[in-house]
Amino acid sequence: MNDCRPLKKATDTAEIVSKGDLRKYYRFRPARFYGGIATADCVGCCLRCLFCWSWHQVIRPEKHGRFYSPCEVAGNLKGIARKKRFRQVRISGNEPTLAREHLLQVLELIPDDLLFILETNGILIGADETYAKDLSRYENLHVRVSLKGCAGKEFSRLTGANPTGFELQIQALENLIRFGVSTHPAVMVSFSGQESVRDIRNRLSGIRPEFASFEIEELAMFGDVENRLRNAGML
Ligand code: SF4
Repeated sequence: MNDCRPLKKATDTAEIVSKGDLRKYYRFRPARFYGGIATADCVGCCLRCLFCWSWHQVIRPEKHGRFYSPCEVAGNLKGIARKKRFRQVRISGNEPTLAREHLLQVLELIPDDLLFILETNGILIGADETYAKDLSRYENLHVRVSLKGCAGKEFSRLTGANPTGFELQIQALENLIRFGVSTHPAVMVSFSGQESVRDIRNRLSGIRPEFASFEIEELAMFGDVENRLRNAGML
């Protein structure tokens, strides 16, 4: 049975996808987002979003990727960025924060002239403010926190996780701000009514006025996303 506690899921998954300071990745690539960004796609997540485009790596982390050291990951990202003349790098694919020491070591190795964009669901940063404190050491870091819906119930329907997980996502933004980390929220609103969108806008602007104009996360029907949403009665 799927465990709906994201923190427990994070711990269990980290045991599969990390080993010492190594972490599993399934791909390194240049990507067109943010005007061009070197991307490392990691394996393993603590949520089960129905619209996830890297679902197979999420649900079967033991079957995908291989272990890389922080040095290999940073080297691959730098190599792609230099070759393509990108100014930005990121870890994407699944959830980068699951292997905390690995992530921090990768950040240590990224040169200051490259901006590292951390794309996260925020669960672990919301659960432990010292994670935000650790991230505050890096000036070339920006954190994009991807909110799964506009409130707890929506979050739960979309991710299969306990609704309280949504509060951890919000708390992540608050913790990052408290420690001076550059951050912004992106919100998946494709399954939300106008009232929910208005409510989350009010809530986010209460955290920081600029968050009223949050990034809208687009639903992309990659692979079997559409089938999964249909089977769950979401379409
Ligand atoms: S948080 Fe991201 S990686 Fe994890 S299941 Fe959701 S969309 Fe996929």
